[in-house]
Amino acid sequence: MIALAIGVGACAPKVSEGDPERGIALSNLDTTAVPGNDFYQYATGGWQKLNPITDEYSRYGIFEYLGKLNDDRIKELIEEIASAQNEEGTPGQKIADLFNIAMDTAKLNEDGYMPIKDQLAKIASIDSREMLNGIMAELMHNGVMPFFGFYVNADPQNSSMNIMNINQGGLSLANRDYYLDQDDKSKEIRAKYRDMIIRMFELCDVPAAQAGRNADHIIAIETSLAESHYDNVKLRRPYENYHMVTISQLSEQIPAINWSGLFKELNISIDSLNLGQPEPLMRASELIAGESLDALKAYMSWCVIDNAAKYLSDDFRNASFEFYGKTLTGVQVMQPRWKYAQGTVNSCLGNAVGQLYVAKYFPAAAKERMIKLVENLQLAFKERIMNLEWMSSETKQRAIEKLDAFYVKIGYPDEWKDYSALKIAKDSYYANIVRASRFAMDDMLADVNMPVDKSEWLMDPQIVNAYYNPTTNEICFPAAILQYPFFSLEADDAFNYGAIGVVIGHEMTHGFDDQGKEFDKDGNLNNWWSEEDAAQFTKRAAVMSDYFDKFEVLPGVFANGKFTLGETIADYGGLQISLQAYKNARADNPEPDYAGYTPIQRFFIANAGVWACNIRDEEILRRTKTDPHALAELRVNGEFPHIDEWYEAFGVDSTNTMYLPKEQRVSVW
Ligand SMILES: [Zn+2]
Repeated sequence: MIALAIGVGACAPKVSEGDPERGIALSNLDTTAVPGNDFYQYATGGWQKLNPITDEYSRYGIFEYLGKLNDDRIKELIEEIASAQNEEGTPGQKIADLFNIAMDTAKLNEDGYMPIKDQLAKIASIDSREMLNGIMAELMHNGVMPFFGFYVNADPQNSSMNIMNINQGGLSLANRDYYLDQDDKSKEIRAKYRDMIIRMFELCDVPAAQAGRNADHIIAIETSLAESHYDNVKLRRPYENYHMVTISQLSEQIPAINWSGLFKELNISIDSLNLGQPEPLMRASELIAGESLDALKAYMSWCVIDNAAKYLSDDFRNASFEFYGKTLTGVQVMQPRWKYAQGTVNSCLGNAVGQLYVAKYFPAAAKERMIKLVENLQLAFKERIMNLEWMSSETKQRAIEKLDAFYVKIGYPDEWKDYSALKIAKDSYYANIVRASRFAMDDMLADVNMPVDKSEWLMDPQIVNAYYNPTTNEICFPAAILQYPFFSLEADDAFNYGAIGVVIGHEMTHGFDDQGKEFDKDGNLNNWWSEEDAAQFTKRAAVMSDYFDKFEVLPGVFANGKFTLGETIADYGGLQISLQAYKNARADNPEPDYAGYTPIQRFFIANAGVWACNIRDEEILRRTKTDPHALAELRVNGEFPHIDEWYEAFGVDSTNTMYLPKEQRVSVW
């Protein structure tokens, strides 16, 4: 089960600073727009105008703005370290050397495909399916995943223990739709994908005709895998992705994969595991047993090349960017090299960088204020549950037990990850990536069959995001999201409840969305609902998914309400709970109007403000296919019509286009 985040943040034109006393920035508004017709434009139109999208972005919004701010801060931290004397083996040496080798274009271009040459030669020498299995296991240990994937996580039916999970995988494109959709745009994407494969093989000294044959093999294998893959909606249903099997059952069902050889390579000893999606694994087995060795070798080589391209010469990086950047997201030029270099340091040595980051940028007062906010939100949620008309008192009781059991993390972990076993050296950028992947893999595999450590963080503190994890029933708010315009120590309550308060409520509601509701207070898949209450929930949630299904995001392209249901319910719950908590907090001491805006109006404006962004059409299409969150605009214009107070606050009525009669509004949490 993957943790559910608030948004897909990425990594600084100028954001308008808010009034330090009040939070909301009037220059971000477009007061020529009618709030009841297009609230998103009304609340964020000014920001969008002030922050046009530049060539190196596919989307530029608050997440990107904060990412950019973070990049500059982290760059400074890294440069400080890099200029100091760092003893061999210290985190400082590792951060500095990894950053420097990533920046060394002369070496990267001189090396060409040398860093992957040995791996490709090894794959080329495969002369049996047994040998293929052995090399596949080695690749997997280094983080290259042909045919399928795996991860270690809490057992959803025994959440105090970690187990091995095998999952569908083996595709270079994000999911099955990219291989199977028959519209013109999808066909064009596949043609360009094929061009990229050929180009990359040519860069590895493979003659053009052979590169073309390889590309056909690769696309045929990936398409066959894609046909067997679960779609986005099915992947969200916990019971349908949970199949515990013994290793002998696994070997019977998926015979062409040498499981004992793989587990030996990974240094794990297990009797059973969760076979998340059996059919795609059976398909992988059929392909491994039935395809020609030439086809399989082409595919495995591609997995290596595609995985390595970003860390090789400019020719590889450009070919990769041309497709994954330009074609898939519409971005026009690459970010400066230092941003990628820094991104790599951040992902390979995340906790080492995070430790420096929080020491410099996370004030203790922010943590105290957050703890209070979380408590108030928890109380407000409890109050709302008690008042639900549609739920029986027995189910309410269990919902409240789950809410009370939330494990809350704010800022940064108590214990930092130890990187002493990871060697960062000057051989090649890619060799370091392989060692870092293997280090991360071994770190993860060490948890197999071990008790779950609830104190472990699933996100680094310098990431602008937040998450809920159902198997530990935890909500987590890393340091980097606790800044303007999500949070401000100086701003009024209306602002903070509208922005970070809704984020907190969003993560809490994930414990009670269509997926989270299947887990009990201990993080086990366990039905705590009466039949009638569960039916009520499903009926009420369907109002939300049906509503989002109707949004046409590009000509002929519609939002996928079932895919985004967990997130749209979380946004809805976040708004309702935080609004309630705000009203409670200020019941005896109401805040005054500011610049003509009531506190409740400012609450909604602050919330819309965090979703301000400009986005390209290609990125709209990509996110609609791959992102479980609704598009930023719809997180405002699709949600607010379901919140009664929004109508009152802005005088919205049946003459406005966003108006929904009360009986058509969602009513769930
Ligand atoms: Zn979420």
